[in-house]
Amino acid sequence: MAAAITGGCLCGACRYATDAAPINIRACHCRLCQKATGAPLYARVLVPLDAVRIEGPVGWHHSSAALRRGFCTACGTTLFSERASAM
Ligand SMILES: [Zn+2]
Ligand SMILES: [Zn+2]
Repeated sequence: MAAAITGGCLCGACRYATDAAPINIRACHCRLCQKATGAPLYARVLVPLDAVRIEGPVGWHHSSAALRRGFCTACGTTLFSERASAM
């Protein structure tokens, strides 16, 4: 059965999939998210990280002490954000 949520980057090197039910779905308009995405807002789905299967060359950048952002090191697509507090 296909995973409930799937996606990937622009060049196809990175793929992700999860069957986890979303904890929440939000659009963040904070300055850091705007700069990280190059867009007016960052729309994202929150699921437990251990429930996500990730393949490909993902790099991580700490945009603050509490949060790091994952991106494809081949094409630069913004893919993930991970909070130290998990919420
Ligand atoms: Zn890529
Ligand atoms: Zn934000």
